[in-house]
Amino acid sequence: MNLKTFMRGIHLREEKELAEKSAIRRVFPEGEMVFPLSQHIGAPARPLVAPGDQVRMGQMIAEPAGPISAAICSSVSGKVKAVEPRLTVSGEYKEAVVIENDGLYTPVDGFGEPRDYQSLSREAILSIIRDAGIVGMGGAGFPTAVKLSPENFEQVDFLIINAAECEPYLTSDHRLMLERPDELLGGIRVMLRLLPNARAVIGIEDNKPDAVKLLSEKCSGDPKISVQPLKTKYPQGGERMLIHAVTGRDINASMLPAAAGCVVQNVATAVAVYNAVCRSTPLITRVMTISGDGVSTPCNLEVSIGVSHRQVMEAAGGLKGDPEKLISGGPMMGTALYTLDIPVQKTSASILALLHDPVAANPSTPCIHCGRCVAACPERLVPQMMQVAADHDDFETFEKLHGMECIECGCCTAVCPAHRTLTQSFKYGKASVNRLRREAKAKAGEKA
Ligand code: SF4
Ligand code: SF4
Repeated sequence: MNLKTFMRGIHLREEKELAEKSAIRRVFPEGEMVFPLSQHIGAPARPLVAPGDQVRMGQMIAEPAGPISAAICSSVSGKVKAVEPRLTVSGEYKEAVVIENDGLYTPVDGFGEPRDYQSLSREAILSIIRDAGIVGMGGAGFPTAVKLSPENFEQVDFLIINAAECEPYLTSDHRLMLERPDELLGGIRVMLRLLPNARAVIGIEDNKPDAVKLLSEKCSGDPKISVQPLKTKYPQGGERMLIHAVTGRDINASMLPAAAGCVVQNVATAVAVYNAVCRSTPLITRVMTISGDGVSTPCNLEVSIGVSHRQVMEAAGGLKGDPEKLISGGPMMGTALYTLDIPVQKTSASILALLHDPVAANPSTPCIHCGRCVAACPERLVPQMMQVAADHDDFETFEKLHGMECIECGCCTAVCPAHRTLTQSFKYGKASVNRLRREAKAKAGEKA
């Protein structure tokens, strides 16, 4: 295999064997469903329903509230109970539409009907993707219609499908590639229609040889789609790492991929595009991996967006033992959870339950200047110096050290023998710099 990759990064224990053979199983929710209005990058959606309203499955219940925003569609039929703040995966209370599921799944008119994308204009396809509420489902949550319509769309020559799935434990994209390859390729063809001068490259880590083989066979007759096997290395699925591996081009934090002629979409997003455009089905479900040694039956489930993490965990047989750590997303870039009573969002790729929390078991000690963090950083940063700056609120130095280029991948923290909480410091440093920039901008606006 001709493997491509990026500089530095780390090799992690994959732990994918726990769930990778588990075929996707659909789970139907019961009871209350919670749809936060902000589950994407950009402005929170604007609610279109009020308490007491009756809604159908697939109905838009909140509309995009600006150019960078996303619609939200109900995954069930039932009655709106409330529009009120609810606890979300971020640990914050956010405004949400709460619907009591009637269990009937009564769809909106036209739901599921086949549609020929080739008869649709570019604007019509983008409008369907926007109304379907599709966002990047790999974790970022950037509205997909916006990503697919950069100003220089005619100069985009690469549509890169992020099929690396480089975080340990996660297997949902792998299962989608094996079980729904035609939907994936269909979604890619729809997106290629929006990027007329692009060719698509599906980047898959070589720890998924069955997916590489199947998709290579499936697209062998299509000159515009190919598969690129990638070295299994973390964070191969990082947008900048993937662009570099596939095209040899580099971007930094201030550039959009389109500036380098690339648009990157992940596997689940491509499948969602196919469902919306070719099957008149908005984004109302997603496939999640439920895994870890604290889960009774690690598996891959297709769940309704809005269902509680607790119901999803119960569908996987519930917790096993007394897990020290619950995570939404992967162990490297995911969010630690202190409760399962929060709703599944469009970006919720997984729930992990781990019996032992490695962070709690290894308290932080002083830096021994070994340089391992530097050798691991895919952005070629100097984490030990950045941490000193961030921890002393010296944001000028943090910026001079290119701290804003940090992608928060966690490689430095993972290799540090002193168990320094480096990534945590960089999240704080980046958030502080962004806050200071906003304040300076507001001040400049006041003066003008
Ligand atoms: S890996 Fe840890 S101990 Fe080594 S230089 Fe970096 S911060 Fe210091
Ligand atoms: S978290 Fe940031 S500093 Fe650490 S390895 Fe990743 S990109 Fe580099």
